[in-house]
Amino acid sequence: MSIVRLLLLGIGLMMMGVLVACTSTLTPTAVSDILSPTTAVEVEPTAAPEDPYQHQREMMVEEGIVGWGITDPAVIEVMGKVQRHEFIPEEFLGQAYENHPLPIGYGQTISQPYIVALMTQALEVTEDDKVLEIGTGSGYQAAVLAELVDHVYTIEIVGPLAERAGETLDRLGYENVTVHHADGYFGWEEHAPFDAIIVTAAPDHIPQPLVNQLKIDGRLIIPVGPVGGFQTLWLVTRVSDDEVQTENLGGVRFVPLTREER
Ligand code: SAH
Repeated sequence: MSIVRLLLLGIGLMMMGVLVACTSTLTPTAVSDILSPTTAVEVEPTAAPEDPYQHQREMMVEEGIVGWGITDPAVIEVMGKVQRHEFIPEEFLGQAYENHPLPIGYGQTISQPYIVALMTQALEVTEDDKVLEIGTGSGYQAAVLAELVDHVYTIEIVGPLAERAGETLDRLGYENVTVHHADGYFGWEEHAPFDAIIVTAAPDHIPQPLVNQLKIDGRLIIPVGPVGGFQTLWLVTRVSDDEVQTENLGGVRFVPLTREER
């Protein structure tokens, strides 16, 4: 190769270098760094990819969470943080931040965001709490709680749903959630007592094992009512060994608590 060709090649490579540097550094400061011969070009760490759903999530929080009367700042913040679109099947992604339940397969649904926020707020959890959830479903409610407490134990009766929720929560880095495939009617004695228990499927009565696994002053939130109809959302506080206080939080509609593992 002739010297002229080598020189041309050298100039070409230098120009490419400048171009690459320009395209990988987008701030005005970085560009002036490149132009100054005495300053070394600093490569900035790649910014996290933008979340294309962020605006929709903000709208959901503004209209469907704050707008519908949720007031706990921690709950509002977490509803704006957890990526609901990661918990739903692809065909419903366009509705990920609409304020209604969505199918997740096996005849089950991910709850309406407002209901997730309402139940989370009613539990009044704190960061040292150990929480039990019955009805993992997609894992979304577990993720919301996991942002606020020390550990979430969650039980799902449909094997493939338990498996998928476990994978989703792992992928998103929720190390403080443990998913278990079982009939949640009996709670999870091994990890009891719990500061709070949340049931996201509706039985026709309050399961006694769940009350027994609450700490004194612990809270249980549970929809109770007939299969296929509306239920009442109850907040049950265990005030002593053998006494509970109940508060009616209004009418809701949940899938039934079933009793046979699938
Ligand atoms: N919390 C879920 C919504 C769950 S829907 C979410 O955030 O996506 C209710 C779930 O309860 C369903 O997945 C259903 O399979 C499960 N379920 C019903 N009966 C159950 C039982 N006895 N024990 C555990 N899970 C149960």
